[in-house]
Amino acid sequence: MASVKVAVRVRPMNRREKDLEAKFIIQMEKSKTTITNLKIPEGGTGDSGRERTKTFTYDFSFYSADTKSPDYVSQEMVFKTLGTDVVKSAFEGYNACVFAYGQTGSGKSYTMMGDSGDSGLIPRICEGLFSRINETTRWDEASFRTEVSYLEIYNERVRDLLRRKSSKTFNLRVREHPKEGPYVEDLSKHLVQNYGDVEELMDAGNINRTTAATGMNDVSSRSHAIFTIKFTQAKFDSEMPCETVSKIHLVDLAGSERADATGATGVRLKEGGNINKSLVTLGNVISALADLSQDAANPLVKKKPVFVPYRDSVLTWLLKDSLGGNSKTIMIASKNFKFFFFSIQCFV
Ligand code: ADP
Repeated sequence: MASVKVAVRVRPMNRREKDLEAKFIIQMEKSKTTITNLKIPEGGTGDSGRERTKTFTYDFSFYSADTKSPDYVSQEMVFKTLGTDVVKSAFEGYNACVFAYGQTGSGKSYTMMGDSGDSGLIPRICEGLFSRINETTRWDEASFRTEVSYLEIYNERVRDLLRRKSSKTFNLRVREHPKEGPYVEDLSKHLVQNYGDVEELMDAGNINRTTAATGMNDVSSRSHAIFTIKFTQAKFDSEMPCETVSKIHLVDLAGSERADATGATGVRLKEGGNINKSLVTLGNVISALADLSQDAANPLVKKKPVFVPYRDSVLTWLLKDSLGGNSKTIMIASKNFKFFFFSIQCFV
């Protein structure tokens, strides 16, 4: 059965928010998150502008309960809580998918990649994977093969972030293998032996990522990026050779804001539409998976068949083998109103 876990992380206020004397409206206690003085944004449901309190439940809440002296959660703690399970699951043969959802500026890249002083989930998971490989090869007769790929989805088109310039990089085709599932034709794969190899490829890919200035954040990326680690373990099980393959997709999503909210026009607006298409489909896929889990938990209740619309967007099609089935998914959301609507739709 698919397992989707949702964590919510609150970042410290930035200068603009401090200058505006913004107030904390979020309180967290264990898995409970409460927002007070929530104003329903235009186009949302409910009475516009009315003060109200809403409570949500998540699997993990990264923030302290004390709003007067907020206690933000460190990168290390986020890794200990979420990342170590991803590494463990990969060794057990699960596919895993970790993604960060939120508005531009809410802290998605910080959580996934980190900054120069403090690395985020992606580098820590890779480091954890290699230290466990080294430990295991020292004691067990197991061998490992690890390869990575890095792609970007921009305007529903796939681009290889690691291919040399001379070969085909842009507009790669997504196809589906009857046994191995969806894949990107001609996407380059790179064998890695240690964490240093991964770091080098990640840095090269990040330099290639499409960035465009928007009214909200000059360096924000308008694309979705998927860093995939394919991990093959070969060992002897009761004297029989056996091979286990697992994939970890680490996803940095584009900002969840509407295109018009950032003052974007023309090509940017078109981008916005497509970015939303992928995000809306991601919401629909997770919502359908949540229905499937509920059906499995209540086998006696009569139910309609659940359709999971993986193929409605490039993003969800490519993540199909890591969303649902033999997989574990972690979604990290950052503080913003949209997410809370998103999560109501998906999980409540
Ligand atoms: P996004 O990827 O969602 O657009 P960023 O990750 O770039 O947002 O975060 C915006 C800014 O906030 C960056 O300067 C980042 O360093 C800072 N930031 C985000 N989350 C945290 C955090 N948990 N602690 C400290 N600084 C953070």
